[in-house]
Amino acid sequence: MGIRWQLASLGIGCAVLLVASAIPGFGQISSADGGSRCWPAEALTMRPGERAIHHVPYDPSIEPHKTDVNLAPLASAKRGSIRSVKLPHGEKLVALTFDLCENAGEISGYDGEIIDTLRRLGAKATFFPSGKWLLDHKERAQQLLADPLFQVGSHSWTHRNFRLLSQEDVKADLALDLKADAKVRETLHARACYRPAFSQQSDLDHATLFRFPFGTCNADSLSAVNDAGLLAIQWDVVSGDPAPAQSAEAIRRGVVASVKPGSIIVMHANGRGWHTAEALPLLVEDLRKRGFDFATVGELLEKGEPVIADSCYEVKPGDNARYDKLFPLDRPAKTQTHAANGATQSTAAGGNR
Ligand SMILES: [Zn+2]
Repeated sequence: MGIRWQLASLGIGCAVLLVASAIPGFGQISSADGGSRCWPAEALTMRPGERAIHHVPYDPSIEPHKTDVNLAPLASAKRGSIRSVKLPHGEKLVALTFDLCENAGEISGYDGEIIDTLRRLGAKATFFPSGKWLLDHKERAQQLLADPLFQVGSHSWTHRNFRLLSQEDVKADLALDLKADAKVRETLHARACYRPAFSQQSDLDHATLFRFPFGTCNADSLSAVNDAGLLAIQWDVVSGDPAPAQSAEAIRRGVVASVKPGSIIVMHANGRGWHTAEALPLLVEDLRKRGFDFATVGELLEKGEPVIADSCYEVKPGDNARYDKLFPLDRPAKTQTHAANGATQSTAAGGNR
């Protein structure tokens, strides 16, 4: 269970530089306005009701028909569960991360207030959408991908508990997930909504980061994710935002109390973060006052050494075993959604779903 420090030899791609040309009526390319030349400002901003979660039976026709995406397995130094990043002395960067979970029996939300706040404050962030979320929110997914403030990883196809899945099912899930991810990125390329600057070339074509649904894994699923070429990104700071009782002030206070340079903070932007949008401006302001700034997970990894554990957990090894009972594979998706809303389950830390 021990944490080991490993040297970061993470892929450092060349920067992609594109000429920022203004298109009349469209946002100019800059981090301040969302970094996109494909959408007018009003198309980027939040819309009422968009954060709502709808229960919809799974329709297999959404599964992407596309050639398998085959990435090279990760080298040994990058394998395992990445908790945070050890940065050089004096670097006070942290990563805000937002999961966009979506299970088979729902279309989850897009919490636009969060994204609008990040853009308004110029705060970098990393998103982990389920593959199905990407296909159910194609325009929003492309907007996130096109924005140089943001990095977009992956959060499985339909957010099942990977600790309970067979190896075969894990592979099948990852295959669908990577196809969905590649499909959305391809569409973005076709629209020429490239980012004006991006530090990791590989990220333009496919996700490089993965977050386990519920933060649960076992040795086999961790290996499968790494064999699929994905870095398993967890966190060292829990916001507790899926718990309704976790107020904005409690989120701010809890994060600030445990954050350190190189921290990875887990939150939700799919309608399951109850007070996340309200907490975010407070949190960004407070962390900046304390001398912190924000980086994507990829940028953190480029600057330091990942802190890697050999298991997946919330705060300490073994502490998320309860999720195997809360989120078994045979439970109907709607029931899982209820629990995942935090309406029936919460923990001292607020849990991560
Ligand atoms: Zn999730």
